[in-house]
Amino acid sequence: MTAQTTRAREHAVVIGLEVHVQLETATKLFCGCSTDTADDAPNTHTCPVCLGLPGALPVVNEAAVEAAVKVGKAIDAGIPEETRFHRKNYYYPDLPKNFQITQYDEPICQDGSLEISVEGERRVIDIERAHLEEDPGSLKHEGGAIDRAEYTLVNYNRAGTPLMEIVTRPDFRSPSEVRAFLAKLEEVLEYLGVFDAERDGSLRVDANISLVPNEEVDADGSISGTALAAANRTEVKNISSHKGAEKALAYEVTRQRNAVQRGREVEQETRHWDEARGVTVSMRSKEAEKDYRYFAEADLPPMQVSGWKEEIPIPELPDARRERFRAEYGLGSEAASKLTSTKAVADFYEALTERFDPEFAAAWTADRLLGELNYRDMPLSAVERGDVVRLLELDDEGEITTKNAEEVVLRAMLDEGLAPDEVVEREDLGTTDDDEVAAAVAAAVADNPDAVADYHAGEDGALNYLVGQVMAATGGSADPGTVNQLLRAELDE
Ligand code: ADP
Ligand code: ZN
Ligand code: MG
Repeated sequence: MTAQTTRAREHAVVIGLEVHVQLETATKLFCGCSTDTADDAPNTHTCPVCLGLPGALPVVNEAAVEAAVKVGKAIDAGIPEETRFHRKNYYYPDLPKNFQITQYDEPICQDGSLEISVEGERRVIDIERAHLEEDPGSLKHEGGAIDRAEYTLVNYNRAGTPLMEIVTRPDFRSPSEVRAFLAKLEEVLEYLGVFDAERDGSLRVDANISLVPNEEVDADGSISGTALAAANRTEVKNISSHKGAEKALAYEVTRQRNAVQRGREVEQETRHWDEARGVTVSMRSKEAEKDYRYFAEADLPPMQVSGWKEEIPIPELPDARRERFRAEYGLGSEAASKLTSTKAVADFYEALTERFDPEFAAAWTADRLLGELNYRDMPLSAVERGDVVRLLELDDEGEITTKNAEEVVLRAMLDEGLAPDEVVEREDLGTTDDDEVAAAVAAAVADNPDAVADYHAGEDGALNYLVGQVMAATGGSADPGTVNQLLRAELDE
């Protein structure tokens, strides 16, 4: 190792995130325009308020404030007595008012945290604040990436959509921790019912990253505020997925390490993640807070929200539910994780346990149902719970074999949208009645004298062969154990 690579390795990676999540509300943050714009033409969900026309006045959407309080409770943050909005002033074509209504020194959530687990190690990531703000419109760069486009189109359908900006402390020490955090955050938000991960652009991440000399890292892994402030950092924008975050940051780690190795300073700047090219590119020098000329939004009065924390309930969160599933239903940790991956799955499973044995229901849901759904890239909502209950009943009561239940009935339910009984009827799967099995056993013995002779000569394979003949004759619907017994009885007579 050269002296210079040693120098680069002697730095710890430090990352802090500013995560923007769209809150799922029916209407925008300060006007009545619908947020459900995905299928609609550009600039059709707008009004004087979200276009920033002179004289238009904003009114706060209560549902967005409630969602923010839920997020605050889930990340164990403080909710202050009073919270208010500020104007953040900057000029950009996606921002029709030339200012964004956001929160500044009195955000709705302060000092929270979220626990993650990376390779079995638990880490607590502190969250400095989480505040409400309006989303700008969206820009479409035609004819290439942002730095190559011929022209740009603007769409204000998104302008005014409620966002929560969640700002972490610089507690991450690797890109993989960031990925785990984003996955955990999405899981929690999804449980709260305030977030739709499937929605395009519903999660956007700005990642701040620097290298801090190892001697500044204390034994417990913490780094002093002075050292953090002294480190030159880049802010990487335009990250829109967990995997993208990990890739962009891995790229930045290498880029910054290379700079340090060559004895250069890391430039303090804003960089753009170019997903297609897999690189970050320099955009501009980083703006300072004073550039934004924050001042209080006089069109919106302060909101008294301290009581909301008690009034607004939140559901059981994923970690707690996972633990409870293990304790209450005796599930292994893998099954418990799969069955709590989303609230919808957990609710679905838990409803099944009211009717079936929890382990039987777990095997069906975690292994068979989710497996077959994933394979087809279908959501859980593609199946009716009533149909799944019926399917499990057919298996539980021995009306069809487990193998047929999964491989024939479940697959036809998903591929053809049939009800379980329709498949059983069409494929003639009902377990064969006793007379039919007895007849098939007698026929197998009569038709296969060689195998019968082999059986009497003590050859093990002969019985299996005969069982196979009976199973084939009954279309796989006989119970193999019963067939075995009947054959032995017949042969040993
Ligand atoms: P700014 O004044 O630039 O907005 P903040 O202190 O508000 O800076 O922090 C913005 C983000 O930068 C936060 O997510 C924080 O965790 C992160 N951050 C702060 N210091 C560092 C650092 N040395 N390296 C990486 N990220 C950092
Ligand atoms: Zn509007
Ligand atoms: Mg800041």
